[in-house]
Amino acid sequence: MSPVATAEVVAGWFVPGKGKDEVAGVWRGVVLAGLAWVSGTAVAGAAEQVDLDMVARIRQEAFARSQVAASLKELTETIGPRLTNSPAYARSTAWARTRLQGYGLANVHEEVYDPAFGRGWEYRASRVELLSPRAMPVHAAPKAWTPGTGGPVEGEVVKATLKDREDLEKQKGKLRGKIVLLDDVRPYKPSDKPGFRRHSDEDLGELRTFPVPEDAEPDAHDKRVEAYRKRQAFERELNAFLEQEGALATLSVSSRDNGILRVTGGGSRKAGEPVGVTALVVAAEHYNQLVRAVDRGQDVRLRIDVDAGFTSEEDLPATNVFADLPGSGKAGEVVLIGAHLDSWHTGTGASDNGAGVVVMMEAMRILKAVGARPKRTIRLALWGGEEQGLHGSSGYVARHLADWPEPTDPEQKALPRAYQRGTGPLQRRRDYERFAAYFNFDNGTGRIRGIYAQENHAAVPIFKAWLEPFNDLDAEIVSTRNTGSTDHIPFDRVGLPGFQFVQDPADYFAHVHHTHLDTYDHVVPDDLKQAAAIIASFAWHAATREERFPRKPFRDRDE
Ligand SMILES: [Zn+2]
Repeated sequence: MSPVATAEVVAGWFVPGKGKDEVAGVWRGVVLAGLAWVSGTAVAGAAEQVDLDMVARIRQEAFARSQVAASLKELTETIGPRLTNSPAYARSTAWARTRLQGYGLANVHEEVYDPAFGRGWEYRASRVELLSPRAMPVHAAPKAWTPGTGGPVEGEVVKATLKDREDLEKQKGKLRGKIVLLDDVRPYKPSDKPGFRRHSDEDLGELRTFPVPEDAEPDAHDKRVEAYRKRQAFERELNAFLEQEGALATLSVSSRDNGILRVTGGGSRKAGEPVGVTALVVAAEHYNQLVRAVDRGQDVRLRIDVDAGFTSEEDLPATNVFADLPGSGKAGEVVLIGAHLDSWHTGTGASDNGAGVVVMMEAMRILKAVGARPKRTIRLALWGGEEQGLHGSSGYVARHLADWPEPTDPEQKALPRAYQRGTGPLQRRRDYERFAAYFNFDNGTGRIRGIYAQENHAAVPIFKAWLEPFNDLDAEIVSTRNTGSTDHIPFDRVGLPGFQFVQDPADYFAHVHHTHLDTYDHVVPDDLKQAAAIIASFAWHAATREERFPRKPFRDRDE
């Protein structure tokens, strides 16, 4: 045997000294995890209890009576995309609450994480037609939080670089009534990679290793903050400029090929800030034609009709949705599972992150359906504002778990929470000590192949044991690496265990992420069934294990 950690299942383990019915009414399985074999002898390796009876119940419920596909169809095709604070987002929170109440969960409610997150905005229709030098329909969609055209408008297409203050000076007085191409031609890059793929053994092998990080630049954080601040300030200036100059619309090239529109936000969601003019993202193959025609000196004219716009004058409060499976014995301690309910607006937010939402709701449904009675409370969180910077999860952490004291410096105050330097050390709230762990699912539809341990080495043998009964479903690796960019980060940042699963790439980054193709058809329901089973089991084990889930050493940034 190789001298690496292994896991071995001893199924049907009977806990001595207790009647069958006293041990949660079941025979228990025990997975002996983290056994290191040195010279043929097993050393270390405390047994992590794995409840194989519960695993079997969970798997049966997840695979025989799954509701993930039905839920996802409703969420994505009846409700549609769910931009934070849009009318559809409000419909989705109501839908989720009704469904979660129907599962018999407790404490189903919405909670405000930001009393003035921003204005509502909605995208209803858009039509872009080339009128000259020839007729052609142009494939385009507007950026969120930019104004519509208020009916069809026509104008000449011009090219202008608007990247800094000097550019604005140069273009002063030239853009009235014009439709402005902001980008140059983006040449087509044929791809020899498959659009949809699973992790190969090679990929997984690489994820098992930990690359020693390079020395961080001491002022890396300050540089990032400064770049962010500059970008924000210029965006405001550019929006005001476009309004004042009376440009009709701006066009940008999509960052994906093959007709895919990848569209996020523009303008401003904040009441009172300049929102600029109608801003469209155009399919690269169409955009490039426009640029080449302008470069040839042809008279290029478009008709644009964008029915989209703000649904409120004022900044609205933004909410997360919660539901509990209450614990007994350690009910004050919480295991949290979650995903983000908000999405961008051109697809239907199916992979990002409808998939995660229905997986997490399904995990709660399964636990309720199998009669799970956890010691700790298992809580579901459906976050808002993820796409604008993890706002819903950050707000929850700050309010209920831990936060740095508010900065007093107004410049600091204006920054998003992730960039702020609080004044003084982390303030831990009462529930900080009682928090167990958070599990997140937000890398598209891809099935779970394992989990990132975020350098929490004490978590590694536990995860290995918990994954063991799912090895036959392709879930097995525990990567010590960190992964970022989604809602486990605010937990990790304050020293609490927060995790995201290793998922198959599927077609997430190739075709779907933030694009108009993020629809139900690109989701693999069997992958979501697998994920729901694993997450239900993880939540159960985190909620029933004797000891609180281990934490990695935390060093406050102000210490
Ligand atoms: Zn996402």
